[in-house]
Amino acid sequence: MLDDNILLDSLNGYQFEEVVADIFRKNGFRNVIVTPCSNDGGKDIVMEKKDPNGELIKIVVECKHHQSKIGRPVVQKLHSAVVTLNHVGKKQGYVVTSSSFSPNAVQYAQEINNSLENIEIRLIDGRELKELAIGAKVDLKNGIIEAYSNESTYYSPKEKTINWTLENFFYPVNAISKMDLVVQNIRTVFHPVFYIEYNISANFSTTVGIIHNERANGQLFFDGERGNLLDYNLAGLLINDSNINFKTLPENQFSSKIDFRLNESELKELAMNEIIISHTRNIRYKGKNNVQYIKECIPKAKDITISNYKCLYYPKWEINIQAKRNDYNIYFVETPSDNIVTKNETDFCRVCNSNITKKIIFRSKWYCKECGSITCKGHVKVTRMTNASICIDCAVMKRFFGAKKYFESTEELRDFESYYSALPRHKKVMENSYLLFTTVVFSFIFIFMVAL
Ligand SMILES: [Zn+2]
Ligand SMILES: [Zn+2]
Repeated sequence: MLDDNILLDSLNGYQFEEVVADIFRKNGFRNVIVTPCSNDGGKDIVMEKKDPNGELIKIVVECKHHQSKIGRPVVQKLHSAVVTLNHVGKKQGYVVTSSSFSPNAVQYAQEINNSLENIEIRLIDGRELKELAIGAKVDLKNGIIEAYSNESTYYSPKEKTINWTLENFFYPVNAISKMDLVVQNIRTVFHPVFYIEYNISANFSTTVGIIHNERANGQLFFDGERGNLLDYNLAGLLINDSNINFKTLPENQFSSKIDFRLNESELKELAMNEIIISHTRNIRYKGKNNVQYIKECIPKAKDITISNYKCLYYPKWEINIQAKRNDYNIYFVETPSDNIVTKNETDFCRVCNSNITKKIIFRSKWYCKECGSITCKGHVKVTRMTNASICIDCAVMKRFFGAKKYFESTEELRDFESYYSALPRHKKVMENSYLLFTTVVFSFIFIFMVAL
């Protein structure tokens, strides 16, 4: 659970310094002081830490809350500030930025670190700052390195979701007791997606004139975490009647949001590449010399118009339902059109672990009222005394007149044993219906044969 959530983009330079100082404090640095704004001199924060040998290290921090890359001059200025720092022991200089560093800046820092000076320079970019923030339990959002959103595609209230889960996966199980079912855990995880609408209009010509027009409009969804195109089925389901309905995420859902790993411009660039690839065609045409040619028609960025785009989330539910000594995880993605189940533990027999729905025989699901197991038909037994269905693991089995009989408990078995021992022999035979049946059939055949 993250304590704070901070949107870096909305901060000015001084507020950024305060946030950075706070992140260092929470990461165990000591005497972290934000220096007064007037006499900057290449240091915004001074602080201390002890190295593994217990030696005190003095650190100067320069903060740069910029959109653009940080260049070599910033590192040079910091270097001088570290050199002039009044401390006899180890000294370090950190440049912390919400963006990233130019190759020159990185190279310069390496040169200092490789030299014989007793100074170390560390460059902390937007991504590393985010890592440090996570370590300090601060949910830092930074539009320079990542897209963010507070909207999700539509998702149902919890009660409705629970009912849907019970009605679809639990109530259809044979002999289930609704009273046993307890919702142990329910949570929604919001997955980031980038949605984009575009138009393309491109003409391709050769010496014979226009050979192809590529005109289309389309919609694409990208996985905001991995950057790949979203699964085709899922993307289709997220758009309901070519419209998306949004729901603003409440503040307390922040902790179950998965962060975007890319920023908006990176996502747009990915989308652009994808649009170009998907609209590239190999066109056959006849040249003036009557020869067939094939031209690869690749649209250009200027042929493509992005008409709409949006960063948003879609919900995945994770529900855990307890039944007696067993519990079941059900995971599914909710879309406006349909739910896509990604995990359903009620499909697996708790005795043999096989997928019940894929079995050729014993395909129905059964519930054991003793332990709460859901089993295949092959692993549920009907008890001799009460006709209850319980799983083979809970049942007590004993053979009577060669036939397997099942009981809910050993006490029940004892009761039956005393009843059975008192039975006359011809009644004992009745306990083995199979034997009885075959005996009767063979007797008839025998009589029939004799009669002939
Ligand atoms: Zn089974
Ligand atoms: Zn059982």
